[in-house]
Amino acid sequence: MSKYKVSALKYRPQKFGEVCSQEFVTQTLKNAKLMNKIAHSYLLSGPRGVGKTTIARIFAKALNCSNLSKEGEPCDECENCREIREGVHPDVFELDAASNRGIDDVRAIQDAAKYFPLKAKYKFFIVDEVHMLTIQAFNAMLKILEEPPEYLIFILATTNPEKIPQTILSRCQKFALHRIKVNEITEKIKAIAKEEKITIDDESLFLIAKLGDGALRDSLGVFDMAVSFCGMDVKYKELKEFLNIPDKEIYFNISKFIRESNSKDILSFLDSLQEKGFDLQTFYNGIVEHLRNLLVIKTTDNPALLDESDVIKIKYKEESVLFSEDQLLRLLKIMFENEYRFKFSSNQNVLIESLLVELCRINKEVVDVSGLISELEAIKKKTSNINKNYSEISKDSESQSSYSADVNKNEDSPVVKKIIELFGAEEFHLNK
Ligand SMILES: [Zn+2]
Repeated sequence: MSKYKVSALKYRPQKFGEVCSQEFVTQTLKNAKLMNKIAHSYLLSGPRGVGKTTIARIFAKALNCSNLSKEGEPCDECENCREIREGVHPDVFELDAASNRGIDDVRAIQDAAKYFPLKAKYKFFIVDEVHMLTIQAFNAMLKILEEPPEYLIFILATTNPEKIPQTILSRCQKFALHRIKVNEITEKIKAIAKEEKITIDDESLFLIAKLGDGALRDSLGVFDMAVSFCGMDVKYKELKEFLNIPDKEIYFNISKFIRESNSKDILSFLDSLQEKGFDLQTFYNGIVEHLRNLLVIKTTDNPALLDESDVIKIKYKEESVLFSEDQLLRLLKIMFENEYRFKFSSNQNVLIESLLVELCRINKEVVDVSGLISELEAIKKKTSNINKNYSEISKDSESQSSYSADVNKNEDSPVVKKIIELFGAEEFHLNK
């Protein structure tokens, strides 16, 4: 395994076409070069690990490549491309604002503007986590952006665009990068595994893709870990034990206990999970995701909307039939209402126990209420029939008004009040 290189570095995209997702950004940047409409500052915002600095470097290559394709792709072979790829090009600077704060960043920015590029047409200044720059550094940058030298291009990357001064923002072309979809990450890891001659089952691929939470880099980190643990044959069973991840089966058990209102067994089940050392926050998030998946299938009947393997999608389809949409909504509501409280609770254990019991109970209440509603609907049907028959049989206004008076007399009773509230007063006033 000693030859194994970190995947995120080894498989870092070198051309626009290799970037996972983000076509909107890559296409626009390609066009900028092809149409020769190049701005002096670009802002790439988005979650970590989605390709901001990767895109910045490819753009630097595209603008300086001596052998650009007619589609706007850098060749990745000429001297400029090669040096940018290796991080040694004298005209491409990278500054990590998160670790370089203070007088140095101001000077670095001022120097960037001072001298002509040494060998390329454009000089690039890529600032990662730009929102961390000091005010002085932003001021230095602003001064340059007010009258930028022809050759200078700033590419600013950030996870927090709202922390950047408006004066800077207004001078940037802005691009928002989004999280990468699970199936796109899955495909990418599949391709890398094939290249590395590593066999990996579908369940493991999905698990690794999902753990990255939309960041390819993080998923590739988990993939590397999986390979170092499992070797050249990654199997789900081993992987989930290694990562100590609750199996999907656990959540199907939980929803079974909930629909059976079985609070006794749900608590013993939780106890057995805790003995195995499962992290409660992961467990909490897992329940939320499980209920969400059930709701999505219940509402749309479209398993393609789930980020799960085919086997699990079928299980969701079967399980969703056993719940009503209303039940799932109520269960999710409880989980969301307690999310914050759970995160900061000093006793998560007790809180999750009481929540599980509540979920079992709420489900029972929903069943009870739906039973009550059907009973009331039956009554409603009956009374409207009586009403109809009554009007047909007797056109006599005197007896009709006495009937109405009887109903009105009872309006104060709590049952009548509830019925009126549910069905409207009209139904119970025969002649108003
Ligand atoms: Zn090139």
